[in-house]
Order: sequence, then structure tokens, then C-alpha cells
Amino acid sequence: MIEIDEITKTYDAVKAVDTVSMTVETGTITVIVGTSGSGKTTLLRMINRLEEQTSGDVRINGTSTLSVKPHILRRRIGYAIQGHGLFPHHTVARNIGAVPELLNWSREKIRARVDELLELFSMEPAQFRDRYPAELSGGQQQRVGVARALASRPDLMLMDEPFGALDPIIRTRAQEDLRRIQQRLGSTIMLVTHDMEEAIRLGDFVAVMDGGKLVQHGTPTEIIARPATEFVADMVGDVERPLRLLSLIPVSDVVESGSAEGAALDAGASLRDALSACLWTGRTAVPVTRDGKPVGQVTLAAIRARAEAHA
Ligand code: ADP
Ligand code: MG
Repeated sequence: MIEIDEITKTYDAVKAVDTVSMTVETGTITVIVGTSGSGKTTLLRMINRLEEQTSGDVRINGTSTLSVKPHILRRRIGYAIQGHGLFPHHTVARNIGAVPELLNWSREKIRARVDELLELFSMEPAQFRDRYPAELSGGQQQRVGVARALASRPDLMLMDEPFGALDPIIRTRAQEDLRRIQQRLGSTIMLVTHDMEEAIRLGDFVAVMDGGKLVQHGTPTEIIARPATEFVADMVGDVERPLRLLSLIPVSDVVESGSAEGAALDAGASLRDALSACLWTGRTAVPVTRDGKPVGQVTLAAIRARAEAHA
């Protein structure tokens, strides 16, 4: 459990974070959302002491972070940032294994962990283990960045706009993968975003920041149903607008003959799901099934044509 207790960070005259308190339960995802400059990054970086607070306290399982040496603290806390921050001259395997290596895990244990994570992120280990970051797509680089932060099974994962550089549609898939992996590993995650849609999709709890203050902390349903301020209501109002249309069209509307490779989608899934599946896994078509039986495929070209027809 993470207890944030009246934490404040002041830069000269600016209160970047102003007396924020909240509790994060083990095994949950809390998404911190707010506009640029609202203090999200500063709040996150005080938790692993990349920034020192001006006042207040953070306790992890009852122990104040101030009583732990910062470099020891940071080994127990995963940290993933936008643009992945991979080492360009290290292979995927070395990148993911960087923290376990620091912790003196055996070669076999590191190797097993790297392969497990690559599989969880749908990247065939034999194919990707020895590649360099430049040989990966943007989505794959971001997945490796997240896998690296998870590699040592940290007590807590801090993620600062981890999917911010991704196309909004690929982002949906990245979020689903993260959710699935978090549930599988039981990780505790605090994730920062400026995107309310991401917060609502991903968070067990959503913490809304405005001008350094925590203005609302609750479940996505509470945030949508009872926004605490006009600012929260405005942020909720913008959710989904750009992709709403594709969400409304079923895959069955554009299904065509053919047998694409890879995981299938049900005919009742939306075109938005299909587009995410294509872009996130780098496929130009996805097989479609109805009641588990193949009925054809949906192609990226057909989805795009449909989106443009309504644009
Ligand atoms: P967010 O991540 O929500 O965009 P930040 O936490 O980065 O916001 O910044 C919050 C406020 O603190 C902003 O007004 C920003 O300009 C200020 N700030 C952040 N870091 C520093 C710093 N190192 N020195 C001075 N001001 C800073
Ligand atoms: Mg930030």
C-alpha cells in the first residue's frame, strides 16, 4: 500500500504539487490525469525520490521513503517514461534484463524472465530477444520499455505518459496489454496521462490533478457520474469523440473473404477494436470469427475506407 500524505513541492513561487494526499491499494492501477503543468510528473517523481518533496511524506507498506536510500528505493520501484528510454546499443534482452542484472539475478533466471515478458507482450522471444531498439516499431519499443520496468517484479510501477508517443489507436491495444499483464502479475501501478479516456479505460482509480491540487480521486464510474468540479466535467466530456464513430460500426459490416494470420476478432467487435488489433500487432488484416468459426477477414484498407467515408 502506498500512502501519500500531504505532499507538496514548491519551485520558487510555484507550488507544482500542493498538499496532495491519497492512498493506493496494492494490486491496483491508479491513473493520475490532468492537463499539462498540473503537477503530475512532479508528484510521480517524488514517489521514487527523483524529486525531493518540500514537505509531506510518502509511505510504502508503512515505511517512509525518506528512510530508504534513493538508489535502493528505485530498484524496488519500476519507472517507465514516454519514448521508452531504451539503451540503443543493447539488445532487447539486455534492456529488459537491466534491473535484474543489477540485482545479481542468475543468467538463467534473467533469461526466463525476459522470455516470459516478451511472450506476455506478444513478441516471440526467439525473434525479438537479440534485436536492437532501432530494429523495432514504435509500438514494440514502447512494449519493451514497459517490460523492462516490470522485469524485477517491482513493488510499484510508476509510468509517466508511457503511451503518449503512440498513435491513439495503437494506444488502446497497449492499454489492454498493460491491463492484462497487470492482472496476471498483480502489480501496483501509478500511471500519469493527460488523456481522460486512457484514465477511464485503464484505472481502477482515477486521480484528477488541476493546478497542483488533487481535485478528485475515485473510480472511473464515480468520476463520470459525479465529476467534482467543472474542470473534471470538461475533461470527461471530451472522451472518445474522435473514435466514437468506429466504435459504433461492427466488424461484420466490412468482413470480406480471405484468411488473415494471427489472433481473430469476433464479428460483433467494433471497427475500432479491429483497427487497434491491426496497428498494435503490425498486421494489415485480422481474421474474423462468429461463434468461434472463421467467417473471413477485416482489412486495414476497409477500415480506413470506412473511417474516411464518414470524416
Ligand atoms: P505535468 O507533468 O502535469 O505536466 P509538472 O509536474 O511537470 O506537470 O509541472 C508542474 C509545475 O511545476 C509546472 O508549472 C512546471 O513549470 C513546474 N516545474 C516542474 N519542474 C520544475 C523545475 N525543475 N523547476 C521549476 N519549475 C518546475
Ligand atoms: Mg508531465
